[in-house]
Amino acid sequence: MSLSISIVVPVYNEIENIDTFVDRLVTACGTLAQPWEVILVDDGSHDGSTQRADQLAEKHDGVMRSVVLNRNYGQHAAIMCGFAHTRGDVVITIDADLQNPPEEIPRLVQCIEDGADVVGTIRRNRQDSLFRRMGSRGINWMVRKATGSPMSDFGCMLRAYRRPVVDAMLQCHERSTFIPVLANSFAKQLVEIKVAHAEREAGESKYSLWKLINLQFDLLTSMTTTPLRMLSWIGLGISAAGIAFGLLLLFLRLAMGAEWAGDGVFTLFAILFIFIGAQFIGLGLLGEYLGRVYNDVRGRPRYFVDHVAGTTHLEGDPARRTAAIAAAGREGRS
Ligand code: UDP
Ligand code: MG
Repeated sequence: MSLSISIVVPVYNEIENIDTFVDRLVTACGTLAQPWEVILVDDGSHDGSTQRADQLAEKHDGVMRSVVLNRNYGQHAAIMCGFAHTRGDVVITIDADLQNPPEEIPRLVQCIEDGADVVGTIRRNRQDSLFRRMGSRGINWMVRKATGSPMSDFGCMLRAYRRPVVDAMLQCHERSTFIPVLANSFAKQLVEIKVAHAEREAGESKYSLWKLINLQFDLLTSMTTTPLRMLSWIGLGISAAGIAFGLLLLFLRLAMGAEWAGDGVFTLFAILFIFIGAQFIGLGLLGEYLGRVYNDVRGRPRYFVDHVAGTTHLEGDPARRTAAIAAAGREGRS
């Protein structure tokens, strides 16, 4: 039996890219033997991408639909919304800025057909700034250690998921999600393939430094409490070092005399600062968790859909579809 394919595309102020992107995407999908649909999720754009996405959905009626959110909720929330609107047996996510070539999609589908639950991708010759690449390397390493996920590139959003993994993700109602790690936690067989990576066709990255930092914290806190545990160990280590240092100072005072101790005042300052610093790091981390717990407790919807345009022939059972959309979006929790 042939698997049906849904492609989810988050779009945020991509007016310069969206036409070329959709052209290339539709051409690439045309080569697929399987039935397919595209869900464009407009994440509160204000450059005309919204209207363009609606027009494109109408133009490609039958295979494309645009789901428009009422404001910007972030890439991962937008993708979650897209997931709720998909019907395919395989769901593929891809960025709209042409950094991930749509031509790679058939290879991802092939991996799923060969038995993978989740297909991740590694960007060959990644075309991003040195700062982003170095940052990613550190973060990828940390996530691998903290979550035990064996993937090597968590940042690349050209990915494929089998339907049960997507359904499992839709049942997770936390507000701060990091989709690749979440998906891995529900997958039995993970596969990673190398894909080409291009520079952004036009426009700038939608991630400011601040948004990037927030995303990394989402990643870390949404999947593991290891940093909290590490905090205790670091605290313990610092205390032990402090005690040892105190003993050393005492020894020096006894062995070298009182005048030596006077000079040690500044050393004490240094120690004090280490402690204060450690406390602030600890408090900050606790705050990161607390903020997210607070958001989840409030249980606000992850996003609101403003309107939907276009239809796709993969629609399936309307009742099931409505239930999935309601559970993931408007009501926030089921
Ligand atoms: N995006 C989004 N909402 C946001 C930020 C980004 O839907 O708040 C979309 C954006 O339109 C693009 C994809 O997510 O299709 C990746 O964003 P971007 O290229 O800015 O990220 P980068 O490649 O710099 O990591
Ligand atoms: Mg990009």
